[in-house]
Amino acid sequence: MKYNFGAGPCILPQDVFKQAADAVLDFNGLSILEVSHRHKDYVAVMDEAIDLVKKALNVPEGYSVAYLQGGATLGFTIAALTMMRDTKKAAYINTGTWASGAIKEAKKVGIDVNVVASSEDKGFTYIPKNFTIPSGLDYLHYTSNNTIYGTQFHHVPKTDLPLVCDMSSDIFSQEIHVADYDLIYAGAQKNLGPAGATLYIVKNDVLGKSTSPFLPTYLDLKQHIDKDSMLNTPPVYSVYVAMLNLRHLLANGGVAAKEKENNAKAALLYSEIDANPLFTGNVAVEDRSKMNVTFKLSDESLTATFDEMWKGAGIVGLSGHRSVGGYRASLYNALPLSSVQVLVDVMKEFTKKNG
Ligand SMILES: *Cc1c(COP(=O)(O)O)cnc(C)c1O
Repeated sequence: MKYNFGAGPCILPQDVFKQAADAVLDFNGLSILEVSHRHKDYVAVMDEAIDLVKKALNVPEGYSVAYLQGGATLGFTIAALTMMRDTKKAAYINTGTWASGAIKEAKKVGIDVNVVASSEDKGFTYIPKNFTIPSGLDYLHYTSNNTIYGTQFHHVPKTDLPLVCDMSSDIFSQEIHVADYDLIYAGAQKNLGPAGATLYIVKNDVLGKSTSPFLPTYLDLKQHIDKDSMLNTPPVYSVYVAMLNLRHLLANGGVAAKEKENNAKAALLYSEIDANPLFTGNVAVEDRSKMNVTFKLSDESLTATFDEMWKGAGIVGLSGHRSVGGYRASLYNALPLSSVQVLVDVMKEFTKKNG
């Protein structure tokens, strides 16, 4: 038995793995891997995968959902191209590696980026607050959860600008108000499904208004929406498994139920980090992520001892991102509270022996 705390691609529910495996051998008499994406049985899968996102997040009228490829990394570019208007200026909040990536790609397509707030001064260990956002820019972009550093926005930034969010690592983990946003994008592999698909939720009003002189067909979100995510061959299997996972989510209380569980999981682990003298959390307490819990040993000379203990307990994926070090426990939707308890028990045992 392994307990997977990996940051992504990540754990999915066991029965989703089982159904996904079954479909490789038999999807209405074919393998899901050989079925044409134009076959009516697969068109039904795509339709359901889109529909279940709308159900799970209460997506209001006037918004569309699409599945593309390219990951959130291509989302950086697509978001900038989609939202570019006459000023070609946009506000970005820089809270870490992924936010920095979004800034870099926006600049490449000709956006004059105004970094209105950054937590770089303290190694991205907090969420900036009390900053002003100039009016009249094309949009504001932020990253709701900072997968690598372990911080998370616990509020939606206040702005009059159209709001764009990279929600890769916390979408479906908590209830959101989609109407606050003009564009949301998320790589699938953190909470939605396997790698290979990227989710876009977009307000219809923003489509077709890009002022970019450079808009290749694949990067034009409107073309994907108009073709119901079948502009070209979609990531057939990834979307299928995402659909299975969304079915599982909705059959188990939906996002509201997951949010409760995720709160309980994060509370359990953070309370151990705070109570245990051998561990320290990496980031400001009020900005702690409920999805990616980052922490370190108070005494780094005990690293080999602790690593041996958690590995011996069957825990995998606990090492911090290579740019941060220490530890990162990713508590995505499919990770049960009991797995967090296994980690907490290891931490307690470790401290009993070494404290
Ligand atoms: C993982 C991640 C990305 C990068 O996603 P890819 O799908 O690998 O391109 C971008 N943003 C956030 C917040 C992430 O967690």
